[in-house]
Parts: sequence; structure tokens; C-alpha cells
Amino acid sequence: MAKSPEEEHPQKAFGWAAKDSSGLLSPFHFSRRETGDGDVTIKILYCGVCHSDLHNVKNEWGFTMYPVVPGHEIVGTVTKTGKNVKKFKVGDRVGVGVLVDSCKRCESCQQDLENYCPQMILTYNSYSQDGTKTYGGYSDIVVVDEHYVLRFPENLPPDAGAPLLCAGITVYSPMKYYGMTEPGKHLGVAGLGGLGHVAVKIGKAFGLKVTVISTSPKKEEEAIDRLGADSFLVSSNPAKMKAAINTMDFIIDTVSAVHPLAPLISLLKLNGKLITVGLPEKPLELPIFPLVLGRKLVGGSDVGGIKETQEMLDFCAKHGITADIELIKMGDINTAMERLAKSDVKYRFVIDVANSLSQ
Ligand code: NAP
Ligand code: ZN
Repeated sequence: MAKSPEEEHPQKAFGWAAKDSSGLLSPFHFSRRETGDGDVTIKILYCGVCHSDLHNVKNEWGFTMYPVVPGHEIVGTVTKTGKNVKKFKVGDRVGVGVLVDSCKRCESCQQDLENYCPQMILTYNSYSQDGTKTYGGYSDIVVVDEHYVLRFPENLPPDAGAPLLCAGITVYSPMKYYGMTEPGKHLGVAGLGGLGHVAVKIGKAFGLKVTVISTSPKKEEEAIDRLGADSFLVSSNPAKMKAAINTMDFIIDTVSAVHPLAPLISLLKLNGKLITVGLPEKPLELPIFPLVLGRKLVGGSDVGGIKETQEMLDFCAKHGITADIELIKMGDINTAMERLAKSDVKYRFVIDVANSLSQ
């Protein structure tokens, strides 16, 4: 008979898991593998709550394997190191993002793009090389191959810095890849949630003019006064949307739900780029005429490789960029998920794991 999650491995672990598509999370005992020669074991301090966690716990993408312990914006402290570990020592402050393994041999891995490796192993809801399931950061400890562990800069606060491990790299990577970093260019950020608000900050650090495109008029004041956006467009306001046609060089679309692309494409100038990172549960409709007539491009991007994630963390540390967070206790996670579903978060929930994980 197959072993239970609690008996599979020698290191006892405890976290919160969703057990069915209600998405409700509750206490869950499981286990982590022994610290291998190339592994570090990490005591988890903080973990951000990404909308992907919500998609997953509710099985909105259709591939959730219950029970699922979400969480891929992990900051913690190294408590054990394997004998071959070179990058880290016990006591180091570290981060773990969306992926914890890959093949290390394919073209993507060779180019430091482990995030596009066909055998990439996600931090949760994936299978490890030994055939056991991966469980994420809504838990007390995690064991990870050191290659996939990030050095967490000392001057980044571990709570407000945690969301950079997914939200930060997911918007930084396409800005770099698609050439969206030239100072003075105009960036639109669609959706002012976890990813969107970090995109505003990183965009400003690159010297861009940043406009938020949002469905929530109530976010306008903060977007400008607190997050540093230059302007704010309410997507349901036809006059304002019309006035902004042909004004943007690029847009990062972080919207988590099905939405029309045509209004966003119309905001782009000739040769403009719309880069989608949001992952709605159903396909979006792609209008071809405005793309053809304006030589515009629609692209996508999936988090980032480990090297680039480290570069992004160092960039954020240098520019003083963190997420704006609401720090919650583990026991508040179900309420937080309900609020996240309604775009009611400023602008990322982070779980105070070490101080609130109770059985
Ligand atoms: P989030 O905090 O919930 O933010 C999403 C924002 O989208 C909301 O705050 C809201 O902004 C807007 N929105 C929500 N429903 C909408 C609707 N029906 N129509 C128009 N706008 C709507 O989520 P997040 O954590 O930033 O994640 C965003 C998406 O990116 C999710 O789908 C997530 O799974 C995905 N993601 C992808 C990657 C990747 O590698 N590509 C990585 C992480 C996350 P306003 O209130 O301003 O309209
Ligand atoms: Zn995420």
C-alpha cells in the first residue's frame, strides 16, 4: 500500500492544505525528504499568497492534485545543509519561488531558463524526482536543492520582500526579455493586484512612465500617491479609454480573470507589445485586425529562471522595492482567499508562517 504523506519521508512537516475544490484550507500533517547532499532544509518564516494559489486550491485550471499545500513566495532561514552545498550555510536568510527542480540538461536549463524546462518541478502540486508530491510554503519547513534557492538580500524585509519571489520575477522577466526597460517609454499595467502593483514599482525603477489600467476606481489615489504610478485609467470609462488610444509602448496584463484584449491592444502605439502574465481559467479572444494594422505583438511570460530571480531580488534591494502587504495569520487564510477572489487586497497577503502556524 502507498505510504501516507506523513510517512513518506523522515522529516515531519506541518502546514495547511486544501483537500477538495471548495478550496478551504485546513491543518495537514505530511513529511519532507531527508536533507540530501545538495539540499538545504529551510524553516519557513513568511509566505506570500499568490492568485495562482487561489486558482490551484479551487482547481480552476483543472490539474490540482489534492491535498494541495500552496505557497511559492517563501522566505526562511537555512537550518540544515547537505555535504555538497556550497552557496548556503545554516542561519542564512533565503527565498524559494515557483520552481524547486528541473532537468539541468535541456536547452532551457543550459540558458538559465529552468522555468521553461519541460521537466520543471513546481514548488507545489507537482511530482518530485522520487515520485512523491511537492508541497508549498504554507508550511513549517521545506527541503530544496540549493540550485533553486535564492540568496535573500539583507536589506529586504523578509515579509514584504517575500512576494518578489513570484510577483516580482513574473513582471521583471518580461520587462527585460521584451525590451521594456528604456527610460521614458510608456508602460501600461493592467490589473492592480499582487503582480500589478510590483510592476508599477519596477517600471518606475526602470524610468518608465507608468499608467495603471484597472477595473477599480477606488484604487486610483493609492496607485498614484503611494505606488508611484503616473496615471490611472478605469477600463470601464469609455471617454478616458478613448483618450488613451495609441499612447502606450507596452502593456503588462496581470488580470486573473477572462477579460477583453481589444481595449488593451487599442491603447498600444504602432509596434506596441501586450505581454500577458495573468492566467485566466479560460482562453481569451484575440482580435487579429488591430494587431496586423498596428504591427503589434502579443506575448506571454512565465515567472523567470533562478539566475534572473536573483538579479531581480538584488535589483529590488538596490531600489528599495518591496510589496505592499497585509500580514495575516495562517488561521486567516480562508478569509484572505475570499477577499483575494474579490480583488480586495492591498496588495498582497503574506502569511506570518513561523508565528501563526498552529495545529
Ligand atoms: P491579484 O492580486 O488577484 O490581481 C489580479 C488583478 O486583476 C485584480 O487585483 C484586479 O485588478 C484585476 N481583475 C480581477 N478580476 C478581473 C476581471 N474580471 N476583469 C478585469 N480585471 C480583473 O492576482 P495576482 O496574484 O497578481 O495574479 C494575477 C494573475 O497572474 C493570476 O491569474 C495568476 O495566476 C497569474 N500569475 C502568473 C504568473 C506567471 O508566471 N505568468 C505568475 C504569478 C501569477 P483591478 O482591481 O485593478 O482591476
Ligand atoms: Zn505566484
